[in-house]
Amino acid sequence: MRVIDMRGETDWDGWRAQARALVLAGVPPETLVWTVNPAAAPPPPPQAEGRFAVSRALVALAAQAIQARAPERFGLLYRLVWRAHAGEAVMEDPGHPDLAQARSLALAVRAEAHRMRALLRYLPAADGARLLGWYAPAQFVLEANAQVLARWYPDFAVSILTPEGSAHWEPAAARVRFGPAVDPALVPDDAALRAYWSEFGADLLAASTAGTSLPEAETFEEARRPPDRPALGPVVLGGYGAPDPALAAAAREAAACRRCPLSAPATQTVFGEGPPGARVMFIGEQAGDQEDVIGRPFVGPAGQLLDRALEEAGIDRRAVWISNAVKHFKFVARGRRRLHQTPVGPEIEACRFWLDVERVRLRPDVLVLLGATAARTVLGRPVTIGRERGRPIRLPAGETALVTVHPSFLLRVPDEAGRAREYAAFVADLRLVAGLAAAGAA
Ligand code: SF4
Repeated sequence: MRVIDMRGETDWDGWRAQARALVLAGVPPETLVWTVNPAAAPPPPPQAEGRFAVSRALVALAAQAIQARAPERFGLLYRLVWRAHAGEAVMEDPGHPDLAQARSLALAVRAEAHRMRALLRYLPAADGARLLGWYAPAQFVLEANAQVLARWYPDFAVSILTPEGSAHWEPAAARVRFGPAVDPALVPDDAALRAYWSEFGADLLAASTAGTSLPEAETFEEARRPPDRPALGPVVLGGYGAPDPALAAAAREAAACRRCPLSAPATQTVFGEGPPGARVMFIGEQAGDQEDVIGRPFVGPAGQLLDRALEEAGIDRRAVWISNAVKHFKFVARGRRRLHQTPVGPEIEACRFWLDVERVRLRPDVLVLLGATAARTVLGRPVTIGRERGRPIRLPAGETALVTVHPSFLLRVPDEAGRAREYAAFVADLRLVAGLAAAGAA
């Protein structure tokens, strides 16, 4: 038996190099034992000449399944590649146990990645210079998902600490670096996490190195595939530009608002944002956990989903106003987590003052009411989303309102098919918004 040592649990580059060389050298799967041994020098790949191609679908499957917490995954994926090289249509044989197992591992990885993105929350380090997140992933999803930091927080230094490694986004260098693990016993709660960072953060950063991450889909030498559909160009619904001075002044005032009790436990007010003259205004329920820390609306998981849907609907986020009915995060603390709580009538009424400031100043053509709280706040009556979504409603002030779901609802749909269906319906609603705005909602 030949032992192949991987440098780490997600040593995608190492596995790919070995698999390619071993296949070309004709080394059968049953003669190999794959292990993870960071201390061992990786065996030199066998020297073999030649080329081979596997389908993009197989490479994408392998790139996900290799993140599973399953020791057999390296050998399993090598068997699939071995058979593909022999000419078998492995991806078209769903009944084969190897393919079924690889798909099941990939599914578990995708689910955990989704869970990590949804549950990971950040708090500012004591010096305010960095956001810290703690998470214990059920699969090895840290490396692949750390890349989303760059998209979520382009301007913030962010670190995610886990029991198996840490990832650090450095905006100045525009790169993610990977570093050592953290003992969970040392960070049982937020205060301990902050204290740990104060003491050891510099060491963690010093020990981290620029890392490669797992790609969404990487190539051996991929089979050809049709060119991608060209990206939809965004429809510009209004102008960009410097912030409206009156709204900027309102935002400063709202930062000191004490109209209701929600300001006390929250980190900060999250006022709406967008360009002056925005013709479309999106209204959600309230600031969320990450919005509360960052200070901007719709930047957490629901915001990321909204961004994706806006792009698909052809709406440029930079050209619309995005806000919430309630500007502070209402939550109940449960250990390290802060659980969302729905704002009640008096809180919504108190905060209506700021929503009205935004509406009066902007006078948008279209109000997009994301979820029942926003719809009830603006329409002044209980709203059943399923009955009223996608139907333009003329408001007394002349705006046109359109009710749809809140994007956080899409994150809670339990099954993949249902999620895809609801997401498509959400994008369809946003396309209606784009149409209404383009027509001036006349
Ligand atoms: S939730 Fe609204 S009304 Fe209440 S304190 Fe915050 S900004 Fe003021």
